[in-house]
Amino acid sequence: MVPSTRSGWIEVIAGVMFSGKSEELIRRVRRAVIARKRVQVFKSHLDARYAGLYTLSTHDGGTVEAEPVDCSEEIMGRRRPDTEVVAVDEVQFLDDGIVSVANALADQGVRVVLAGIDMDFRGLPFGPMPTLLAVAEIVDKLQAICVVCGDPAGRNQRLVNGKPALWDSPTIMVGGRESYEARCRHCHRVPRQDEDQTALL
Ligand code: ADP
Ligand code: ZN
Repeated sequence: MVPSTRSGWIEVIAGVMFSGKSEELIRRVRRAVIARKRVQVFKSHLDARYAGLYTLSTHDGGTVEAEPVDCSEEIMGRRRPDTEVVAVDEVQFLDDGIVSVANALADQGVRVVLAGIDMDFRGLPFGPMPTLLAVAEIVDKLQAICVVCGDPAGRNQRLVNGKPALWDSPTIMVGGRESYEARCRHCHRVPRQDEDQTALL
């Protein structure tokens, strides 16, 4: 797994929602803590309900907690000089500056572990993820289970009021009840405005 004897590289865990990216990120962080590395975990859009998920105990009786960040620059600002592993979850919501931040940290000898959704609800590359996948030394793409047919799922199905969201629907929905499902390519639906809605469930 380790690409070089010198430390400092980028690992990306990519995939659809529910594919286990956070579980895998936390597994790697836990192992780094066992290896007595100094670790910092960041998460964009930290949801208080999940904050506890990222709380890990260290040997010296301390804890590693996820620190919420709104932009990539904040990671550089909060990074402690002795940190050896930087893990970032929900990286797709960060600005494109995360690419140079990740590269700079890796160049400085930090192991950078990034987890994020690689496609938006339309199936198009999402935010900084495609570039991060290109610059990373190690890439893992995880799949969920398609809730329609049970095959491996790589797509995020966006539903608005229980129906597939239209291709042109705004990225942030106002009103309407929005939800997401993991689906495979064949069960994924993104109807255009002029398509027959009755054929698409
Ligand atoms: P991610 O960070 O990729 O969104 P998580 O690590 O938060 O994923 O959650 C993964 C967990 O979600 C799985 O271990 C499983 O228990 C649960 N899960 C819920 N729906 C699905 C699904 N459709 N396919 C696979 N796992 C699912
Ligand atoms: Zn399917």
